[in-house]
Amino acid sequence: MNFFILTIFPELFDSFWEHGIIYRAIKSHIINPTIINIRDFAEGRHKAVDDRPFGGGCGMVMKPESLAAAIKKVKKQAPETKTVFLSPQGRILNQQMAAELSICDSLLMICGRYEGIDDRIYQEYVDFEVSIGDYVITGGELAAMVVIDAVTRQIPGTLGNADSAGQDSFSDALLKHAQFTRPREFEGQNVPEVLLSGNHQAIEKWRVETALIRTFLKRPDLLAQKQLSASEIFILKKWCLELEKITKNQSLCCSDPLPGC
Ligand code: SAM
Repeated sequence: MNFFILTIFPELFDSFWEHGIIYRAIKSHIINPTIINIRDFAEGRHKAVDDRPFGGGCGMVMKPESLAAAIKKVKKQAPETKTVFLSPQGRILNQQMAAELSICDSLLMICGRYEGIDDRIYQEYVDFEVSIGDYVITGGELAAMVVIDAVTRQIPGTLGNADSAGQDSFSDALLKHAQFTRPREFEGQNVPEVLLSGNHQAIEKWRVETALIRTFLKRPDLLAQKQLSASEIFILKKWCLELEKITKNQSLCCSDPLPGC
């Protein structure tokens, strides 16, 4: 997959390419990143890439000419490329969007700076506007790295174990199960016995249960949207019964009821 990145700070990406899964994906030609310095397309003695906003107001806006010239150059080289503008106003990135983007052969990512880009670039050239969350950061470079990382993990062959991406949090609308490594005992806490049992069926059942528990506790919104399997419904109902037993016993001996109870 080709990533073309339009930025005025190419050096911000230097160490991003040089580590871990992204490094391996480049070495094995799964991804092929090209950094394009928007300033190389700027005209005039000062090679300005920004200017004051029409109508007044604070900050500067990225000029359209250099952005359009850089985009056209990429489109000539890779006509099938889709153009992504990293922006707090875009659709918020999630695992499903990362999977959808990973099917593209080529993505061109525009990293905004200052107050953003001239809107005519957005109207004319942008296919997807992607946000990494409801907050504003200084530039699109960090956002582009987040998107590239999430998308690359979804490309078959990127991760050592072919199943790893499928077992990540969010892949089945659940957070990943709890995980432990050596030592068996750490600061008085032991690894759950079942994980040492060698019983793969019991381990799988425990993993499903812990995934459900942590999703319920940390992200109940995900659980509410999920199409639950019969065995997952069984597990949830079993907890309900257990909780009911506990609360019933408590209310019988409760000496200090809440006001209104
Ligand atoms: N004035 C803009 C606004 O309020 O929508 C924000 C401009 S921001 C300081 C500069 C650039 O950072 C944006 O053009 C965009 O490329 C990037 N950026 C900021 N927050 C982002 C986010 N949550 N997701 C993706 N990109 C973001």
